Amino acid sequence: MRYISTRGAAPVIGFDDALLTGLARDGGLYVPEEWPQVSTEALEDLKGLDYPELAVRIMRPFVAGSLIEDRLPELAAKAYESFGHKAVVPLVQLGPNLWMMEQFHGPTLAFKDVAMQMLGQLFDAVLEAKDQHITIVGATSGDTGAAAIEACRGRKRINIVILHPKDRVSEVQRRQMTTVQAPNVRNLAIEGTFDDCQDLLKAMFNDQPFRQEVGLSAVNSINWARVMAQIVYYFAAGAALGTPQQRIAFSVPTGNFGNVFAGYAAMQMGLPVSRLIIGSNANDILTRFFASGEMSIRAVRPSYSPSMDIQVSSNFERFLFDLYGRDGAVTAGAMTEFRRRGVLHVNADQAQQARGFFQGYSLDDDATLQAIRRIYEETEEIVDPHSAIGIEAAHVLHTAREGPVVCLATAHPAKFPDAVEKAIGRRPDLPPRLSDLYEREEAMTVLPNDLAQVQNFVRGGPFPAAAA
Ligand SMILES: *Cc1c(COP(=O)(O)O)cnc(C)c1O
Repeated sequence: MRYISTRGAAPVIGFDDALLTGLARDGGLYVPEEWPQVSTEALEDLKGLDYPELAVRIMRPFVAGSLIEDRLPELAAKAYESFGHKAVVPLVQLGPNLWMMEQFHGPTLAFKDVAMQMLGQLFDAVLEAKDQHITIVGATSGDTGAAAIEACRGRKRINIVILHPKDRVSEVQRRQMTTVQAPNVRNLAIEGTFDDCQDLLKAMFNDQPFRQEVGLSAVNSINWARVMAQIVYYFAAGAALGTPQQRIAFSVPTGNFGNVFAGYAAMQMGLPVSRLIIGSNANDILTRFFASGEMSIRAVRPSYSPSMDIQVSSNFERFLFDLYGRDGAVTAGAMTEFRRRGVLHVNADQAQQARGFFQGYSLDDDATLQAIRRIYEETEEIVDPHSAIGIEAAHVLHTAREGPVVCLATAHPAKFPDAVEKAIGRRPDLPPRLSDLYEREEAMTVLPNDLAQVQNFVRGGPFPAAAA
C-alpha cells in the first residue's frame, strides 16, 4: 500500500515510512492511496475469528509491501495479550437495539491502548528491520501519554520522553505515567501549561539538527497506524452483530476525530454502517459543523470529559480530503485558511454528503452527569463521562430502522471518579490489576519551561540515539 499526503505535495511513501514519519513534510496527514475493499464473503468469514486474527485480516492490505508484513500475526497476538478481557473490546447489551463496546480493558483503561499497543509492536518490528533507534517525545494533558508509555516500555529500540504540565493532570493520569519503571521511559513535569509543553515539542521538531541527532519521532493521534488499528474494532462489532446481512450504527465520543474517522474508513472499505453518531461536550465544533457546513473555532472550555476538550480536531483533515474529492491543493488551501482565520466552509453539496455519514449531538457538563445517572438507573452500568456522552447521543438520535447501535465506551469509570461520584453518589473502584496504583513509587524530573534544558534531558537517553 502506498500513502499520500492530504495536502498533495509530500513524497508518496510506504507503510513503514508512514509509521515512522507521522506528519507529512507538506504539513498534511498520510492516507492510503485507496481504500482496500472487504467483500461480502470476506465479511462473512470474519465471524467467529478471535480479535487478533480478525485484526490481521483487516490490517493486512494496509501493510502490504512493508518489511514486517509477514510478522503481522505474531505482532497482533502480542499487542492484544496485555488486555484484561479475552474479547479485547467486549460488547455489553444495554437495551433492545443498544450495545456498548468496552474499549477500556487495556493497561491504561482508555481506548487509546487498543491502537497504541499495536503501534508499539509495529515500531519495534520496523526499527529492527531497518536497524534504527528512535526517541519518541510527546506532550500530554492526560490519557495519550500513559498509553504511549505503556506501549513503548521495555522496547529495545525506543527511548520515550513524555512531557506533562506539572500539577495539571489528574493524580490517576500522572501515576499511570510516573510509576512505570523501565530504563527507556522518562517523565518530564514542566513548570507551565499543556500549551507550553506542546510549544516545547513543536520547537524540538522544528530544530532539524536536534531532530536528526536524537532520531525524533511522535506517536500522536495523526499517526496513520493508530487509525488503522482502530478500524479493526468496527469490523469486530459488525461480525458479532450480523454484518453483512445487518446494517449497524455507531456512536462515538469525539475529540480529535481519530476514533470516529476509523469508523468512516471501515465504511469506505465496505462495512455496512447506517450512520456514525458523534458525541461532543461543550467543545462542540464538530457538531456545529455537521449541522451547518461551517467550522469555526471558539475558545476551549474545560469539561468533565477532558479528553475531548479540543477545538481543532486533527484527524478531520483526512475526512475533508475525501470530501474535496481527494484534491490535495484544495485541502491545503482550506486548512491554511482555517488556521489563519479560524473558519472553514464547505459548499451545500459537500455539507449534504458529510451529513450522509455523520450526525453530531453535544452535551454540556450537567447533561453529561444526568446521562451517567440515567444510564446507571436504567441499566446498572457505571460509565465514565466520555462514554456517557456517546451513549446519550445514541439515545437521542438513533432509530431502530438503522439496525443496532454500538456505543464506544472509551474510558473506565475509575479514571474519572469525581464526575461519576457527582452523578451517582458512588466512587467506582479501580480494576484489580491497578488497585495498588496509589502505593506504587513515582519517578519524574521537574524542569522549567526552557527549551535548552528540555533538549539536554532528551539527549541523555538510555542509549546513544542513532539518526532516523
Ligand atoms: C482520546 C479520547 C477520546 C477522543 O478520541 P478521539 O480519537 O480524539 O476522537 C474520547 N474518550 C477518551 C476517554 C479518550 O481518551
